[in-house]
Amino acid sequence: MRYDALIIGGSFAGLSAAMQLARANRAVCVVDGGEPRNRFAAASHGFFGQDGMPPGEMLAQARGKLAAYPSVRFVDGLAREATVEGDGFAIKVDGGPSLISRKLVLAFGLKDDLPDLPGLRERWGATVNHCPYCHGYEFLHRPLGVLNLHAHSAFQAQLIADWGPTTFFLNGGARPDDETSARLAARNVTIEPEKVVALEGESPDLTGVRLADGRFVELASLFVAPRTSFQCPIAEQLGCVLDDGPLGRVIQTDATKQTSVPGVYAAGDIARPMHNATFASADGVMAGAGVHHALIFG
Ligand SMILES: Cc1cc2nc3c(=O)[nH]c(=O)nc-3n(C[C@H](O)[C@H](O)[C@H](O)COP(=O)(O)OP(=O)(O)OC[C@H]3O[C@@H](n4cnc5c(N)ncnc54)[C@H](O)[C@@H]3O)c2cc1C
Repeated sequence: MRYDALIIGGSFAGLSAAMQLARANRAVCVVDGGEPRNRFAAASHGFFGQDGMPPGEMLAQARGKLAAYPSVRFVDGLAREATVEGDGFAIKVDGGPSLISRKLVLAFGLKDDLPDLPGLRERWGATVNHCPYCHGYEFLHRPLGVLNLHAHSAFQAQLIADWGPTTFFLNGGARPDDETSARLAARNVTIEPEKVVALEGESPDLTGVRLADGRFVELASLFVAPRTSFQCPIAEQLGCVLDDGPLGRVIQTDATKQTSVPGVYAAGDIARPMHNATFASADGVMAGAGVHHALIFG
């Protein structure tokens, strides 16, 4: 069977794209590896009408709604390869036959390349967080830290100070320039130059961080903004033009979410510099409508 659209990634972006196409009664197939980026968090915040819901439940609900449309098929597994085949596309999925379609939507998400610091990885999404809009309120007015990973971290420290008294851990890195130091001081951010050697407390709780000189700094949450990379290499395989985002590469798209490769669309974290579930879902809606228009007018 030749689908109207294949969607690689069945999370906030992919399922939203699929819903637009399902409601246009188009044949759509969603291939999903089942590893959404926020799977480490017990609750998702800020999504319209669903604040505080477990992310897995949100996705299961969305998938359930989509399954009610007869033109939708789901394939659980990883797409390993995508190629242009005539005026359409073919993808190879682990352990299954090739799937073919007229259009392709990439919604395979990003992975966070976490710093290698003892005690950090197991607290990711609980007491080690990235986005204060997603997980800042839960730590309101409590001592917070920001780990220096790159130039963007000083900006993050200024932001986090709105949620609680903040320490910016330079982690052995260079002192910020005078202008940045003045901005941090204006936000009452304490600068700690020493290297952080471990996170402490009964995981996933956090009591604080241990510094290389033996001192302990009490914290309720440590914020880090890790660099990101694509969950799979299919955008590169297809030759999509990529842009540099603040924390990693993203796929360049036009206003309809079409990439530089005609017929290939990209949505969600992989196709925008600022990331959250709402943006990803909105991107998916745009990509789904974009694909539908292209099926008719393209
Ligand atoms: C710890 C944490 C907590 C977060 N909390 C919040 C929050 O509270 N509120 C909020 O709005 N945002 C939150 N976010 C951000 C949110 O998770 C992302 O913005 C959102 O998940 C992006 O959706 P997406 O559909 O683009 O990608 P993802 O959700 O990452 O989904 C990508 C999907 O594609 C699949 N996939 C990957 N490669 C392949 C392949 N080759 N073949 C098939 N399938 C593949 C994956 O398995 C996955 O299911 C959080 C992020 C993190 C890291």
